[in-house]
Amino acid sequence: MAQKQEIRRRRFIQSSAATIAGLAVPATACAAATQSIEEAARRVGRLPKHKLGSGGREISVLIGAGDWSLEAAEAGIRSGINFWHKSDEWGSGTPKAILNNRDAHYCQVCVDRVRGNHETGAQDEEAHYQFVKSALKQTGLRYFDDMQFHFGYHNIAEIKGNRAMVRAFERLKKEGLVRHLCLSQHNYAGNSRVPGGQNAAEILTAVMEDGLYEHAQIIYSYGDTPEMNAFVSAARKKGFGTIAMKTTRGVGRMVQGQTFMKEFPSGTTPHHALARWLTTRTELDAAVISINSLREFIDTCSGAGKPMRSADTQAIEQMVAYADREACRLCNACMGHCAEHIPIADVLRYERYALDYGHGERARRLYALLDKKADRCIACGDCLPHCPQRLSIPEKLISVHQILG
Ligand code: SF4
Ligand code: SF4
Repeated sequence: MAQKQEIRRRRFIQSSAATIAGLAVPATACAAATQSIEEAARRVGRLPKHKLGSGGREISVLIGAGDWSLEAAEAGIRSGINFWHKSDEWGSGTPKAILNNRDAHYCQVCVDRVRGNHETGAQDEEAHYQFVKSALKQTGLRYFDDMQFHFGYHNIAEIKGNRAMVRAFERLKKEGLVRHLCLSQHNYAGNSRVPGGQNAAEILTAVMEDGLYEHAQIIYSYGDTPEMNAFVSAARKKGFGTIAMKTTRGVGRMVQGQTFMKEFPSGTTPHHALARWLTTRTELDAAVISINSLREFIDTCSGAGKPMRSADTQAIEQMVAYADREACRLCNACMGHCAEHIPIADVLRYERYALDYGHGERARRLYALLDKKADRCIACGDCLPHCPQRLSIPEKLISVHQILG
């Protein structure tokens, strides 16, 4: 956590300095950075809010995240962003504006399985309990509003048969250290490392019926599978909260692609059109979009809650076509057909971190932890017919290994 915080501090200093090229005096740099933050917030204005499920809380339609650049988080606070995903990642660098006005913000802690990764790790009541207590100490937040089971359940049987995360939440809630229980849910059907794994939509439907969780973060970009869209609709009717994550599928690659951008409609950008679409054309309560700088903050958040224009509609059509050609949707449909047991969806998720979110360092760190890397692919092609997007999986794996290996 400390390492990540240091990286973000460096980025903050670098990007602040970039706004006032030529000045090397730290106090002056700080004043100029604050001015840039104020200006960014002014250009975005106040973000609209939406009810998060039926729990009564109103949250900004675009939420912030602990891995945003610090200057973007500062501008977000001024623009009314009041829900912070992964706030535990701030460590000792929690924004002062949040510490000084704690009750005006909803801060979420992400809790992972232990003794392994999201596929092989276990739920452990005591370890989850201690993790949250330690994160509270580091961030100084006093309490977390939302405790999130990161990556979620492997299947419906686990929801019924393993209540360790729920018990940890109940203990912490009794002590006033957490308030609401939520989860982010990935797909596990066909994953050979997760016997009996099921898809996110079926697991989430069961979680919603179970009634213990208040809301969920779901993988969702430009519309999703019919099953996930049906879940989002059912959740809206039932008052179960939904927040879209992993929303920028392929967007970083689009922005870097000269040919793509040459044909992109004028008057909008990929991040801007996406923000408008997510916050006005879906039944989601809110969405999170990765943001690394004040420029990205202005570009993205100025679209929040605003109606789609014809340029945005055309933009989204072009983005869907591009993303379906280039960027994995993390559906897992290929995984069960790989005799080499390569964690294809994880590899291609890290590709997204590096190429779409600008988080190359994080992607390399996570890739290094994989027990099987992409270079184990023997190009047999067995996975190919199962990919709904017809991605050239072996070629992609080689290219990701070159970037992250
Ligand atoms: S082509 Fe590579 S990833 Fe696909 S099934 Fe064969 S070994 Fe696995
Ligand atoms: S490569 Fe294709 S099948 Fe595999 S997870 Fe990605 S989109 Fe799904």
